[in-house]
Amino acid sequence: MKSSQTTDHLPGKIQRVGAIGGGQLALMMGDSARNLGIELIVQTPSAADPAVAVAAGNVLAAIDDVGATAKLAELCDVITFENEFVNLEGLAKLAEKGVLFRPSLAALTPLLDKYVQRCYLQDLGLPTPKFWAWEASAPLPEGAMNFPLVIKTRRHGYDGQGTFIVKDAASFESIRAKLKGQPLLLEEFVPFDRELAAIAARSNAGEIAIYPIVETQQEDRVCRLVIAPADISLDVKAQAESIARKLLDSLKVVGIFGIELFLTADGEVLVNEIAPRTHNSGHFSIDACKTSQFEQHLRAVCQLPLGNCDLNCQGAVMVNLLGYESAESDYLMQRQKLAQLEGAFVHWYGKKESRPGRKLGHVTVVLGDKSGTNRRAQAESISRNIDAIWKAN
Ligand code: ADP
Repeated sequence: MKSSQTTDHLPGKIQRVGAIGGGQLALMMGDSARNLGIELIVQTPSAADPAVAVAAGNVLAAIDDVGATAKLAELCDVITFENEFVNLEGLAKLAEKGVLFRPSLAALTPLLDKYVQRCYLQDLGLPTPKFWAWEASAPLPEGAMNFPLVIKTRRHGYDGQGTFIVKDAASFESIRAKLKGQPLLLEEFVPFDRELAAIAARSNAGEIAIYPIVETQQEDRVCRLVIAPADISLDVKAQAESIARKLLDSLKVVGIFGIELFLTADGEVLVNEIAPRTHNSGHFSIDACKTSQFEQHLRAVCQLPLGNCDLNCQGAVMVNLLGYESAESDYLMQRQKLAQLEGAFVHWYGKKESRPGRKLGHVTVVLGDKSGTNRRAQAESISRNIDAIWKAN
C-alpha cells in the first residue's frame, strides 16, 4: 500500500479492502464486496470466524496485532474496521508509513473510550445524558447520587456487556466491587420514550447520505428488534439527521457510522453512543433499501459515488436471532421455517457455537403496500412469530 491519509485517490483505484475484524459485519460486507468487484481481506483470529468463508483472503491474527495489520496492508489499498477493539497507538505507526485507514485514525481517536466520546459530543454541542468519569473506589460525584444510575466500562463494551443499570444501593455495592480498578463512565439514567438509530455515511468528498431513522428495541441491553422507518415526527427526524451530519462532518468521516439515540418523552433527541462502523440497526438495509449499509460503507471507503439510501418497500422489521442456549447447532429446521414467513429474508452468520445472547443471525421482514401504518404493532406480531419458530426445539 503506497497511499497516505492526505493523498486523494482516483475513483475506481481502490479495489482491495482490508477489514480488521472477521465477524458477521465483515461477512455481510464480503457479500457487498463481491457485487462491487472489490476484494475483501480480513484480519481475524480464527479460520472459523464468519467472514473468512466469503473473504478473498485473510490474515489470521488477533484484532489488535499490529504486525498482522502491517501484513494486511501489504495485501490491500485501504484498511477499514469491523469493530472498535483496535490498537490505535500501534496503527498510528502504520499510518505514519503511509497506510490508508478509512475512517481515519483521527476520526476514531475521540470515539473508542466512552468518556472521551461523551466529552467530544459535548464539545460539539450535541445533546447527551449527563455524565462523569469515575473509578469505583472513589465516592460518587455530586449530582450522580440518585438511582437508577448507569455505569459503563469506558472501553471494549459491546452488546450491553460493560453497561450496568443500577437500580438501588445494594446492587450498586456489588457492581462497584466487581468494577474496582477500571476506568468507568457514570451516566444519568434516561427514561427514554424510545431508542432510535441513525445510520449515516460520508464520502471523501464530504457528501453525506442518511438512511431512514429507525426505532430500536433492546432486551437485556442487546438489540432485539429494529423498525424501519421509525414512526417519529418531522422535527425528531430533523434532530436525528442534524446530529448525524454534524458528527460526520466534524470528524471528516469516510465510511459509515451507526449513531444510537434516545428520544425523550418531550421530543428531545440525545446521543447514546457512536459506533464508527456498520451497525446492527442498519441490517434492514440489505433487503429493504436501494443500497445496503455494507455496500454504502465500501462505496465510501473505495471512493465510489454513495448509493441511494431510500427504502425499496413500505418499511421493514429486523429481528435478531439471539442464542438462547449453549449448543453446537446450525438450526437448519428453524431457519427453513423462518424463510417461509411472508416477506422474510433470513441471514445466518455461520457461527459454530450458540451461547445465550450471542448474535447468530437475523431476519428482515419487508412490509408490503397492504401492511397498514401501525408498524410498531406489526413489529410486535412479527417478532412474536419469529421467536416462536426460533425457540421451538
Ligand atoms: P453497548 O455499547 O454495550 O451497546 P450501550 O451504552 O449502547 O452499550 O447500552 C446498551 C443499552 O443500555 C442501550 O441501548 C439502552 O437500552 C441502555 N442504556 C444505556 N445507557 C443508558 C442510559 N444512560 N439511560 C438509560 N438506558 C441506557
